Amino acid sequence: MQVSPKDAWKRILEEARREIPEQAVTTWLSPAEPLALDDTTLVLGVPDEFAVKWNEAKHAELLSRLANQVLGRPVEVAFRVPEDRLQRPQIDFFVAPPPEQPAPAGPIRVTPSPLPLNERYTFDSFVVGKSNELGAAAAYAVAEAPGKTYNPLFIYGGTGLGKTHLMQAIAHAVLRKNPATRVVYVGAEHFINEVIEGIHGRTMPDLRRRYRSEVDLFLVDDVHFLEGKEATQEEFFHTFNTLYEAGRQIVLTSDRPPKEMPGLEDRLVSRFGWGMVADVGMPDLEHRIAILRKKQEQDHLETTIPDDVLHFIAEHVYSNVRELEGSIIKLLLYASLRHREVSVDLAREALADRIRPSQPAPGDRPQALPSIDRVQDVVARRWGVTPDGLRSKARIKSLTVPRQIAMYLAREVLNMQLVEIGQAFGGRDHSTVIHSVDKVQRQLARDRSFRERVDSARSELIAT
Ligand code: ADP
Ligand code: MG
Repeated sequence: MQVSPKDAWKRILEEARREIPEQAVTTWLSPAEPLALDDTTLVLGVPDEFAVKWNEAKHAELLSRLANQVLGRPVEVAFRVPEDRLQRPQIDFFVAPPPEQPAPAGPIRVTPSPLPLNERYTFDSFVVGKSNELGAAAAYAVAEAPGKTYNPLFIYGGTGLGKTHLMQAIAHAVLRKNPATRVVYVGAEHFINEVIEGIHGRTMPDLRRRYRSEVDLFLVDDVHFLEGKEATQEEFFHTFNTLYEAGRQIVLTSDRPPKEMPGLEDRLVSRFGWGMVADVGMPDLEHRIAILRKKQEQDHLETTIPDDVLHFIAEHVYSNVRELEGSIIKLLLYASLRHREVSVDLAREALADRIRPSQPAPGDRPQALPSIDRVQDVVARRWGVTPDGLRSKARIKSLTVPRQIAMYLAREVLNMQLVEIGQAFGGRDHSTVIHSVDKVQRQLARDRSFRERVDSARSELIAT
């Protein structure tokens, strides 16, 4: 008997519900439309390339097994984006809706808040791997059903690892489906400035109206900047509550998880954790290669970069994805200025400042990181104290400053957990570590000679 694609899919989906969590079914499988069924394959249409790849990786095998069971013959389940979807015009950037009211009379005007989205930051251009799979899946689920799945979605991780990209991908996807959505994307710093201006210029009512009643999707980037800003936190808290209660979707990013932000009021920390907290980390080697390939394909670069060169870059540049992208640009520029072919040797030359001084032979894994002892030794020597002093409880200034620097480097260079760092420094509390790291960061931002001294210690650690 001939089964229609629709019936086949209906039955397979029923079976799948028993094996796949409800949330995943709603996000990934319910939106799929059965397009065709022949002797060997059931083709399902899904909204975009991201969904194709995700479903292939996560669900194709199981669904094929279920298809076999339901249909009584081996049938593969495959995914693709239907033609009409591909042709649909894409809305690539956010157009601020016209103001509902004329500008207020008088000299005071608050700057318009929504920032434009970067048209390149879509799900399709985002390469998913182990380091970001949770964040990517959560972002995708939020885009499929804003306000209904994870609210808020809180994405955290180091700089240049794709937080802003994912956050904006949600906005693009939501706008594509529903162009009338009122999206506000704002950096926390921008929000802080607006609140300060609002207080001084007495324009808070206007600011509140804009943020609390004219937003469907609220994206706030880098919320760690809110730390220590009490007036802004107060404002943010009420904005958050109003939007949340109205069922609006909120997405936040930060360089740390909510619990590691001591300068943030407890009530905000707790709200930030209400929905889903997902991290993004540094992609592994394979993942870095995939990102470089994607980048090359996406930019339609005139010069193709040979595979061995892509490998070379992926192996040697592993601080973050932004650096990785920058390396390609730098390499191509270098090649074109010198009229030379792109090769591994050329890459070694062009990227000398980004790759480790003592290079591992091609094919080797990157060198192991220095140990915490080594960090303490280097800092102690350079600041004229002893490693034991750094580990002691003594709170004299000649020790506290280098101790804070060593903690900062342990965090930055070794990527150690706060608790581990605390233990390595005489069993200190993790909040002490956060405080130390913050203090160093602040001084780095304003004190050039301090920065040079710390950078030089960091270079020594990385070089050896
Ligand atoms: P963050 O906000 O975490 O500092 P961004 O989102 O600005 O980082 O990402 C830095 C750059 O790296 C951007 O150009 C972004 O497109 C790119 N990028 C990061 N992660 C990925 C990824 N998984 N796939 C493709 N590009 C990525
Ligand atoms: Mg960012």
